[in-house]
Amino acid sequence: MSFAATTESVHVRAPGKINVYLGVGGRHDDGYHALATVFQAVSLYEDVIARHADDFSITVTGVDDPDTVPLDDRNLAMRAAKLLATAAEYDGGVALEIRKSVPVAGGMGGGSADAAAALVACDALWGTGFTPARLHELAARLGADVPFALHGGTAVGTGRGDQLNPALARGRFDWVLVTSDQGLSTPVVYGRLDALREADGALADDPPLSLDVPIPVLQALRSGDPELLAESIYNDLQEAALHERPELETTILRGIHAGALQGIVSGSGPTVALLCASPEAAQHVQAGLLEHGLDSLHVHGPVAGARIIA
Ligand code: ATP
Repeated sequence: MSFAATTESVHVRAPGKINVYLGVGGRHDDGYHALATVFQAVSLYEDVIARHADDFSITVTGVDDPDTVPLDDRNLAMRAAKLLATAAEYDGGVALEIRKSVPVAGGMGGGSADAAAALVACDALWGTGFTPARLHELAARLGADVPFALHGGTAVGTGRGDQLNPALARGRFDWVLVTSDQGLSTPVVYGRLDALREADGALADDPPLSLDVPIPVLQALRSGDPELLAESIYNDLQEAALHERPELETTILRGIHAGALQGIVSGSGPTVALLCASPEAAQHVQAGLLEHGLDSLHVHGPVAGARIIA
């Protein structure tokens, strides 16, 4: 295979996501839970800059505590670059610079966004020329949320969350995000969900191994009406996340009190996503939260997936 090194560096931007709906079914033999989810990509981005190098390396900026992001093969972006190099039989390396904005271990798929961005950036830097379908296939091998970060927009994820189908979403949805300084481990939250289900008398393996997203969620997205969507946003992991972080419930209630239509924990948390009726309503909610000392971010969705920007 021949490679045309056309440029010195490639800059790719990839979005974080909110799970507008997240249904969790039973656990498969491989340990993964069956999921039916709706992802929405939102305007909080990871930037990944790839530069030619003989070896593979990563630098990270934008995090308060550098120790929270591994710089070795545990980093999803590093794994993405190496997977692409192997698949393309490319024998050089890459220096990846990751500028993070998505909170680490925040339930917003920041690591997955980095991996998707690294795939797109290295593909362009090395002149690999893989098709979107081939990149999607590599993304699915890296993690359930990575294909969505490539894809962006609004999409239904089934299977382990990695079988994606685009969902029609009209207009724009405004979200206020309340992030937490301390992340939450995704496996811990799933483990808590299994424990809560067992305590409820349902064996962790009992819930269905195949799930669908309820029709009203899809209708609400199609309508573009945030009030309608507010009636159907839902997260099966929320109870488990609140078990780990009870204060998140207060945050959701404060957001609703300040004018949000509804609030949920995003993915495995601890980020709280508050759905608002308009950009103005979102600003109002932010002001109300600030009165309680809660900093927040105003984002909107859906936005595009991983894209080269320079
Ligand atoms: P998940 O996709 O598992 O729900 P999340 O969105 O809650 O995760 P991430 O920020 O993606 O959270 O990272 C989860 C963990 O993965 C981190 O605690 C960190 O140890 C590890 N990790 C691997 N690669 C990255 C990366 N590029 N950025 C941040 N964390 C990473």
